[in-house]
Amino acid sequence: MTIFAELKRAKFMDTVVNNIRITKTENSRLSQVDFDNLPFGKIFSDHMFEIDYSDGAWQTPTIVPFRNLDLHPATSALHYGQAIFEGLKAQKSSSGEILLFRAVDNAKRFNESAERMCMATLPEEIFVEGLKTLIDLDRNWVPSNEGQSLYIRPFMIATDDYVGIRPSEKYKFVIITSPVGAYYSDPVKVKIETYYTRAAEGGVGRAKAAGNYASSLYPAKLAAEEGFRQLIWTDAKTHTFIEEAGTMNVVFVINDTIITPDESKDTILKGITKRSVLDLAKDWGYKVEERAVKVDEIIDALKNGTLQDAFGAGTAATIAPISHIGYDGQTYELPSIESRTFSNKIKAHISEYKKGNIDDKFNWLIRV
Ligand SMILES: *Cc1c(COP(=O)(O)O)cnc(C)c1O
Repeated sequence: MTIFAELKRAKFMDTVVNNIRITKTENSRLSQVDFDNLPFGKIFSDHMFEIDYSDGAWQTPTIVPFRNLDLHPATSALHYGQAIFEGLKAQKSSSGEILLFRAVDNAKRFNESAERMCMATLPEEIFVEGLKTLIDLDRNWVPSNEGQSLYIRPFMIATDDYVGIRPSEKYKFVIITSPVGAYYSDPVKVKIETYYTRAAEGGVGRAKAAGNYASSLYPAKLAAEEGFRQLIWTDAKTHTFIEEAGTMNVVFVINDTIITPDESKDTILKGITKRSVLDLAKDWGYKVEERAVKVDEIIDALKNGTLQDAFGAGTAATIAPISHIGYDGQTYELPSIESRTFSNKIKAHISEYKKGNIDDKFNWLIRV
């Protein structure tokens, strides 16, 4: 960008960010919430952030009382799935500050999803400032009991009222937030899926696109009928390489080496939790390998006892330990949860980091 364009953009961003039109609720629902019994994703804070894209530009950003969206029945997102989302959390620190974890990374990833789905991209400043302003206004909704957090769901839908297939010309970006309880992840029994596919090379697996989650429900239902809680997805072509675990990235520890599928193919979602796990592990001096991971390698390690640890990594649970892996009609049991030095340590560390109890040496925290 030239200096002139840069200045123009900075001025534009200033205008947008300082002009969020705020309408406060007159009927806060805060007093009705039982903060000792928070279900996941069912209770929503008083306000929401909203901005529309039309005529080639983002319009006035608004914060309004939480309400239903009013959509034309031909809204293109409902028919053809131009819809993407993000998921992140805000946490209260021990001193009562509100902290966001790696939110700029979510803003960047959101735009990568938007590009892939041929949707308008959103200036990172709008994503981040919208988030901060919204959470500041609803700051009393950020729970403070152990393990609780404010789950944040930014999303964007195509809003042309047109039943023809083409990239929409109008979009709506919204942020809603939901106070959630501690996420107790029982160790999960997972099945290595060798027929159904989450993502194929050249497809949309890297994007947090709504349809990806719809298509994973049926294979997950079949696996549930066999007693498995989640699937480990394999590559679409050969089903011999491991990709992800359910809606999380998957990490293994074999012979004290941290191993996870690399992101060189566009079938793997670039998880921020996984990235944080790897950044910390490297910092602690662990050997970390991001590379193709063969199913056979994991099964061999299970058989010969060198598989020390396996877990899913994602924002909702942070670390979800895997207790059993099913493959080819066999179910293998993994080492006991107590014996898992790495996942126990990383889980505790990330939790303390998010609460601001650890020096923010990676610059991951944003104060609201
Ligand atoms: C969101 C998501 C993840 C995890 O990403 P985080 O940024 O760690 O929450 C992993 N895989 C898929 C398919 C996802 O949708």
